[in-house]
Amino acid sequence: MSVDNLLDRALVRLDEAASHLKIDPDVIELLKYPRETTKARLMIRMDDGSRKSFLAWRCRYDDTRGPTKGGIRFHPDANADEAETLAFWMTFKCAVMNLPYGGGKGAVQVDPRKLSKAELERLSRAYIRAFGRIIGPNRDIPAPDVYTNSMIMGWMADEYAHIVGEAVPDVITGKPVTLGGSLGRDDATARGGYYLIRHLAPELGLNGTMRVAVQGFGNAGQHIASLLAADGHKIVAVSDSGGAIKASDGLNLDVLREAKAAGKSVTDTAGDFGHVRCEDDEVIGAPCDLLVPAALEDMIHEKNASSVNARVILELANGPITSEADKLLAAKNVIVLPDILANAGGVTVSYFEWVQNRQGFYWSLVEIHERLRAIMEREGREIWNVAQQNKSTVRAAAYIQALKRLAEAIEAHGTQT
Ligand code: GLU
Repeated sequence: MSVDNLLDRALVRLDEAASHLKIDPDVIELLKYPRETTKARLMIRMDDGSRKSFLAWRCRYDDTRGPTKGGIRFHPDANADEAETLAFWMTFKCAVMNLPYGGGKGAVQVDPRKLSKAELERLSRAYIRAFGRIIGPNRDIPAPDVYTNSMIMGWMADEYAHIVGEAVPDVITGKPVTLGGSLGRDDATARGGYYLIRHLAPELGLNGTMRVAVQGFGNAGQHIASLLAADGHKIVAVSDSGGAIKASDGLNLDVLREAKAAGKSVTDTAGDFGHVRCEDDEVIGAPCDLLVPAALEDMIHEKNASSVNARVILELANGPITSEADKLLAAKNVIVLPDILANAGGVTVSYFEWVQNRQGFYWSLVEIHERLRAIMEREGREIWNVAQQNKSTVRAAAYIQALKRLAEAIEAHGTQT
C-alpha cells in the first residue's frame, strides 16, 4: 500500500480510536472502505467554441447514520483518493456533531480561476447531469467546499430541478438565500470554530487578547480573522496561495479583505500599515497563541511541526495536520482542536438549511447562531471531557466519540446484511 495514499493515512486515526474502545471488528471493516465512488468525465463547451473535458467524482463513504453529506471541491489537484478521504472525514464529522447524516464528497479536477463565469456555470450543471442519479435529498446532499460557493450551488440546484421536473431545495445546501439557502451559512465554518474556542478558552489557557496566525485566506480564513478581530484579538500573520504577510502589531483586516475582493493576494498589501512579506512557513511558526490552518490538507507535517509556536491549533481546513506532525505537536503540548469538530459549523448550518427546506419555514439569523453555538458548545465540551477521561488528544477523543455513535448505528441496522 502506498504511503502517499491519503485515505490510508487518514485511517490511522480510526485505528487509534478503535484501540481505546471495545469495537466489533465488523464495524472497522465497514468503515475502512468507501461504499461507492463514481467517476465521470464532464464535457463542456468553452467560450471560444472548443470542447474541454474535466474529471469529476462523487463518493458516498458511509450512510449508516443517514443520507451522505458533503461538499463539492473544484481544484486542479483534485483526485479520487482525496475525495474519498474527505468523505471519510465527513462521515466522522457528522457523527461528532450527532447530525443525522453519513459522509460524502465530490470533486472536479479544474482550476476554476481559469474559467469564465459562463464556463463555470456549464461545468456546474454538467456535474449535476453526471451525478444526478446518485444525489438526492434522502440519499446524498452536496454543498460548497474549496473554490465552490453559493452561486455554484444555485446553478446546481436549478439543474437538478430541471432534471426531476420540480424544485427540490433540500437536495443541496449552501444555496443563495433567495433559493432557499440558510441565513448564516456563509460564515458558518469559521463561526463554529469561533464558538468552540470561546467556550473552551479557560481550559485551553487562552486568556485575554490573543495573537492569531491564519494559514489560508479563503472563506474560512477571512471569517475567522474577522470574528476574532471583532473581539479585540490580533491577527499577526496570514497567507494565501500567493504568499504570506505579517505585522507584529496586527494586520489591517479591511485592507486584506479589500485585496481579496479585488482578486488579489494578501501579499499585495505589503508596505501598507506595517504589513511585511514573509515566508509561508513563518505563518506556521509565528509566535502566537492560536494558529488556524484554513486551507488544504497536509500543511503541517514532519518537517515544519517542530517550528509551531502556538499554544492551540484550530483546524478549520480538513486534514491540515499529518499524523506524524500530530505526535510532534503533542510532545510540545500544543493542543489541536481537530477538523472533524473545529470546522463542523459548516455542515451543521447545512443541516439547518436542509431542515428549513423540508419544513418550509425559515429561521432568523439570531436563531441560526444560537442553535449553532449550542451544538458546538455541547459537542465540544463532551469531546473535551472524553479527552480528559482517556488522557488522549482532543483528536483521538473526537474519533472515539464518532466511532461509538457509528458503531451503535451499524449494530442497530442489524448484522446479517
Ligand atoms: N465542505 C464543508 C465541509 O468540509 C461543508 C460540507 C456540507 O456543508 O455538507 O465540512
